[in-house]
Amino acid sequence: MKKLALHWKIIIGMVLGVIWALLSSYMGWSSFTIDWIDPFGIIFINLLKLIAVPLVLFSIISGVANIGDPSSLGRMGGKTLLIYMLTTVLAISLGLFLVNTVKPGKLIDEQSRIDNRINYEIWADSQGHEIKDGINYLKDPEFFERAQEISELTKSELKEVSLADKMETVEKQKESSPLQPLIDVVPENFFFSLSNNGLMLQIIFFALFFGVCLLFIPNEKSQPVLTLVEGINSVFLKMVDLVMQAAPFFVFALLAGVVSKMAGDDIGKVVEIFKGLSWYSLIVVIGLVLMIFVIYPLILKLFVKKISYKGFFKAMSPAQTLAFSTSSSAATLPATMECVEQNLGVDKKISSFVLPIGATVNMDGTSLYQAIAVVFLAQLHMIDLTAGQQFTIVITTTLASIGTAAVPSAGLVMLIVVMNSVGLNPAWIAIIFPVDRILDMLRTVVNVTGDATVCTIVADGENMLHYQESKDPSETFEVES
Ligand code: ASP
Repeated sequence: MKKLALHWKIIIGMVLGVIWALLSSYMGWSSFTIDWIDPFGIIFINLLKLIAVPLVLFSIISGVANIGDPSSLGRMGGKTLLIYMLTTVLAISLGLFLVNTVKPGKLIDEQSRIDNRINYEIWADSQGHEIKDGINYLKDPEFFERAQEISELTKSELKEVSLADKMETVEKQKESSPLQPLIDVVPENFFFSLSNNGLMLQIIFFALFFGVCLLFIPNEKSQPVLTLVEGINSVFLKMVDLVMQAAPFFVFALLAGVVSKMAGDDIGKVVEIFKGLSWYSLIVVIGLVLMIFVIYPLILKLFVKKISYKGFFKAMSPAQTLAFSTSSSAATLPATMECVEQNLGVDKKISSFVLPIGATVNMDGTSLYQAIAVVFLAQLHMIDLTAGQQFTIVITTTLASIGTAAVPSAGLVMLIVVMNSVGLNPAWIAIIFPVDRILDMLRTVVNVTGDATVCTIVADGENMLHYQESKDPSETFEVES
């Protein structure tokens, strides 16, 4: 009998996880699921992240050192960053187009939007933000009483503790020098960067620096280091193989936990939450689906002729299903690398350089979602963003996606920066928070697919793509005995 491919097993695990969560919510067993099943999902993510950090380090070092000469490294690096940037801007433009055309925020009832608007004006006033669309409800006698009632409520709005903490961090960032993001990329103590998962950009910086220096020292000295680095890399890849064998079970636990936490012992709650935010969620989902099924295949068709539409999805499906279930491109990175190398035939020299960087700096799904979220929240508060403000969104979401850590919900936190850049109240992210996890799962699939697409294009451009249509992806993560 033909063995079931791993991604099918993972999908079955996911479906069973959701069914279990719904059943346990119905039967009132949610706390059992959260106490005894969910921890295995957390263990799974921890295992993948445990592998991802050293894998980024060692694979970039070996990728850079294997490229051999610094000038082709420079050319390839430049090309990689440029294409990453282009796909991100494309994703943001698509997001802005959809949200400005459908206007999901305007589909909410008029009275709540007027209240929202008054709230916004009170807040903008207190923060000294200029209101750019020239409307002023606070000065309108018709809304005077309502404004007074609402101003009392507004004062308590920012009291939500975790949100306030996150905002404080971002505020601190704002106060520092404009070159602070650049300063933050250069570590003063590399071991500190390693022990803080969030400092991936510092790890990439160190790995590039180390790899380049390896190119400039005599061969007899660099060779043993490189052999060691490659050996260590193989050990980490073997760890991925082993962990992935258990992925279907882990994914069951992960999904059971996520859904149980949302539903508690009342499934109806989930349905209610989704109803209120259904238009917004739908637009995000349409944007993400278009990226995966239309934009990336088109880009691939344009630049890489030898890979068929179906072939690409077949090759990437194990990584895509994993991205969906873990909501983390960093945790998915080892799987993305295996799929790209084994199933698409991208040379290791390219993938080990392009993918770890992509997992950190390229997040097309996240930036598309952020663009839609900001404009949706503005619409919900009756704010018409000017063309200049929409342009600011393009710039800040591009930069925010570079700074977003490749872990669950990071995109939501970075949304605070984008909201600030156009003078909107960052506390509004609480509005879209309830549906964030499911959208996070989908945008992570886009993030990972985008990295793989760019990696394939770069490999083809360098003549390092050896694709074979017949390759069976069910053999990905096969453990040799
Ligand atoms: N979860 C996403 C990722 O890891 C980041 C985000 O959008 O929250 O790719």
